[in-house]
Parts: sequence; structure tokens; C-alpha cells
Amino acid sequence: MNYAIALVPGDGIGPEVIAPATDALDAVGDKYGHIFNYAELEAGGKAVDTVGEPLPAGTLEAAKECDALLLGAVGGPKWDTLPGHLRPERALLGLRAGLGVFANLRPAYLLPQLQKACPLKDEILIAGNPEKKPTFNFLIVRELTGGLYFGDRGRSGDHKSAFDTETYSWEEIERTLRTGYDAAMVRRKKLCLVDKANVLESSRLWREVAGTVSKEYPEVETSYMYVDNCAMQIIRCPGQFDVIVTSNLFGDILSDEASVLTGSIGMLPSASLGARGKAERTMGMYEPIHGSAPDIAGKDIANPLGTILSAALMLRYSFGLEKEAAAVETAVTSVLDAGLRTKDIAGFSEAETIVGTKAMGEAVLKALEK
Ligand code: NAD
Repeated sequence: MNYAIALVPGDGIGPEVIAPATDALDAVGDKYGHIFNYAELEAGGKAVDTVGEPLPAGTLEAAKECDALLLGAVGGPKWDTLPGHLRPERALLGLRAGLGVFANLRPAYLLPQLQKACPLKDEILIAGNPEKKPTFNFLIVRELTGGLYFGDRGRSGDHKSAFDTETYSWEEIERTLRTGYDAAMVRRKKLCLVDKANVLESSRLWREVAGTVSKEYPEVETSYMYVDNCAMQIIRCPGQFDVIVTSNLFGDILSDEASVLTGSIGMLPSASLGARGKAERTMGMYEPIHGSAPDIAGKDIANPLGTILSAALMLRYSFGLEKEAAAVETAVTSVLDAGLRTKDIAGFSEAETIVGTKAMGEAVLKALEK
């Protein structure tokens, strides 16, 4: 089967971490008989430099023609003083809106090889884990294109008061919940809706919609939790969660909190999904959760595993290639088992070999070719 992938390497470490991810995809293609065709596109700071805007119309149009998009990262100090509409990060909002992706999936799991990198004590990890192991594995599904970040906002005439508005429609909530329930069905079949329904009317609407949608997923156990409690539970007992579904604002904060528990920002992938499109493929935008890391760009020390694991999510969610996605994830686990570590995840076990970005990518490739 042929798949078209839009590639936006972007700025800073973006191109360094994208290269090993496409190498991994190509190795999977060779092994399982798929062809991945890439359309390399410019967005972010690089596009500001070459064409004067962060998201050239041609980039969005070309991305829409593809089945999915893989992005490194955009931004950097060089463009920090530009006005808002020219900032590289604007490209991310434009791509999300233009590709119609509305649900951001952020897995948070602790690999046994990185257990010592987690700031939580073993007994805390074990307490909430159904298998009584010092680990956790949950998925945050964050609504991405609505709520407080997109609502009406403004200042009073004298600029001494300001407002932001949280608005959600039934449809926006329903499609996000469906993404969460579909994910729960192939995981441990538990979904927790996180909100502030004791105070916010919009949260009460989320609960109403969940009451309706949950009936279509009788196998999934649905629970509800206030966001303040959830922020505590993530560090008190992360093993209790399977899928968390929440609004844009709450998801932004909780997913960063969760990422700290996994060892390094360089390890975590993310997927932003839209509706099912042509040939039953789900348009998706895949990227590591980290930024362009200008402090380490060009030094061959960035961790490429978050981007490689993002490519695995692309195989799973956009192309339905579960076996292939699992092969990439297993390859990553095996290089960690062999003791290979980039600098950001080093120092937590005795038998480690510190490697650079390229060597880590090559090790994953070798593991995939076995
Ligand atoms: P960052 O994620 O780029 O870096 C934070 C810290 O983590 C840095 O010390 C960095 O060296 C380290 N780090 C990040 N990724 C790493 C990796 N793969 N391996 C090893 N270490 C890694 O966040 P920041 O410094 O706040 O932002 C830098 C730029 O990136 C800014 O311009 C910001 O706007 C942009 N940004 C872009 C995205 C995106 O493209 N999706 C996301 C966040 C930030």
C-alpha cells in the first residue's frame, strides 16, 4: 500500500529528529511491503525567512493532499521578537485548523528502562497499578480547537478588566469524546472525563454529552473527576488512569504535568486527529511534544525517540497499521534495553552507553531490520 506523508522538519532540532523517524518508517515499509512517499514542506521560522510568513498557503494545500503530517518542531530565539502573526508557532495553529484536527492524543507512560528517571517513589507507582508494577500507562485526549483558547476575549475601555470565554458546542465535545472512547476500546476500556463541573456550565455540558455517548460504548467504564483532583491524582496514583478526556485548557496543563513523570520531554510522542477521511484514513498531525530546543540544535545530542514514536502513532492511528506501529515501539524498547541513551535520559542506570541523535536513530533502524 502507498501512503503520502507531509513532512515539516521545521527549526532547531526539528530536522535532526525527523531524519531518524523517516528512516524508521522506510525500514517498516521495506519489511511489511508499504511505500511511504514524502512531501517535504516549509513552515515555521524557516518559512518566515524564505517566504516571509510562517505558514505559506502552498504548505497547507500540499499537506491537505497527504494522508498525514509528521512535524519536527518550529520556533527559536531568532524569531521571538516578530509580531504575533509572523511567529513560527502560528504555523502550528494554522496547520491544526487547516487540517481539521481537533483531538490531541498524548500518551504518558513510564518505560521500565527509564523508571529511575521518574520523580515519583516506587511505592506510589505500584499503589495505583492494577498489576502492582512500578509503572503507569495512560493517554490524555485533549480537545484542541475550542474552549478558552478560541473563545471571545477582550479588555474593557479603560483596559483595567479583561475576559476570556470558554465556549463548547455539543458537536465539539461529542467528537472529542468519541476519539477518547475509540482509544479506550483498544486499551484497558476505562475513560475518565476531567472537568470543573462543580463550577463551570461548559463542564456540565461535557458531562451531559458523555452521558449520551457513553451508552454507545457499554464496555468502557466511564468516570468523572474534577480537574483540581486530577492534578493531584496524576502524582499520587498515576496507575489508576487509562484514558483521560478533557478540554483544551485543562488538557494543556495536565499533559505537561504528566510528561514530567515519564523521564524526558524528548521521549514523548503526540497525535492530533481529525475525522475519518478518504479511504477510511484519519487525517492526523504527528509530532514530539518538545519544541525546537535551540540550546542543543546542531550538536547531535537531541533525543529522536519522541519523533520516532510519533511516526509509530501515525502508523497506528492514520494508517491502521498496528503491527507496524508495534514493531517501531518494540525497536525503541530494545535499544533502551541494550543500554543506549541520549544525554537527556542518561544517568539513571549503570550499564549505559551515551549516544548522539544519529547513532540512536541508527540503532533503532538496526533493531527494526532484525
Ligand atoms: P523545548 O521543548 O524546545 O526545550 C525545553 C528543554 O528541553 C530544553 O532544555 C531542550 O534542550 C530540552 N529538549 C527538548 N527536546 C529535547 C530532545 N528531543 N532531546 C533532548 N532534550 C530536549 O522548549 P522551549 O525551550 O520552551 O522552546 C524552544 C522553542 O520551541 C520556542 O521557540 C518555542 O516556542 C518552540 N516550541 C515549539 C513547539 C512545536 O513546534 N510543537 C512546541 C513547544 C515549543
